[in-house]
Amino acid sequence: MAPSIASVPLAASPLVRDKAGLLSKACRSVGGPQIRRVGTLVGNVVNAMPAADGAVALFALEAEVEVQDASGRRFLPIAEMYAGVGRCTLNPCEQLVTAIRFRPLPDGAGWSFQRLAQRRALILPMLNCAVVARVAEGRFTEARIAVGPVAETPLRATAAEESLRGAPVAPEAIAKAARLAQEAAHPRASAIRGSAEYRRAMVAVLVRRGLEEAGAMAGSR
Ligand SMILES: Cc1cc2nc3c(=O)[nH]c(=O)nc-3n(C[C@H](O)[C@H](O)[C@H](O)COP(=O)(O)OP(=O)(O)OC[C@H]3O[C@@H](n4cnc5c(N)ncnc54)[C@H](O)[C@@H]3O)c2cc1C
Repeated sequence: MAPSIASVPLAASPLVRDKAGLLSKACRSVGGPQIRRVGTLVGNVVNAMPAADGAVALFALEAEVEVQDASGRRFLPIAEMYAGVGRCTLNPCEQLVTAIRFRPLPDGAGWSFQRLAQRRALILPMLNCAVVARVAEGRFTEARIAVGPVAETPLRATAAEESLRGAPVAPEAIAKAARLAQEAAHPRASAIRGSAEYRRAMVAVLVRRGLEEAGAMAGSR
């Protein structure tokens, strides 16, 4: 019997790969096949871990989360789900997440998902970074940069994003944005996942790689 849509793991969904390759790649890096078969994207968000791969991609996609309780349903910007490390704003006795929505990436948009981890599977990342970029005539018209775990919640590097508006897709502009993202990042020291100094230094590297990849993809379309 052919599998129903509901039984296809999100990471393997052709629809998600087509409309939001960024999310598809992020979800393919979660855990291993067994974890991806049973774990959900909603769980990845409600866990409220700033390193969560799917959630970081959803920040760059500017996703909204549908919350249902006795008073009805409403969509909230994903950032409003977070109250701190491991703390979701949902009231677990009264509220349920019933959907996650985001706009498909616009035609011609480029994206990148960068991840730094001690091994390739079954481990939370030391750092991750999701980038969406739009380019016209060799200049960034829009850049969205989400980074984790560098704050209590997944972080949008807004100063870096602003610096790129109208800037050429060139090493100097990308280096400046990477520096601004690094300045906004305040990772914790972790005995398992690296010192704060190392992780902060690597933020600039991941953001630079992400912008280069997303900028090149957008520029070639
Ligand atoms: C070995 C291992 C490796 C892992 N590697 C990664 C990794 O590389 N990257 C990564 O991001 N994560 C990783 N994880 C974490 C985890 O598997 C993922 O975050 C997964 O997406 C969680 O989804 P779940 O459905 O299992 O959530 P659950 O653990 O079942 O739930 C998490 C929380 O969400 C709540 N919840 C679930 N659904 C709803 C809903 N619809 N409405 C309201 N509340 C809800 C639950 O009550 C619970 O509080 C790993 C976990 C393990 C065990």
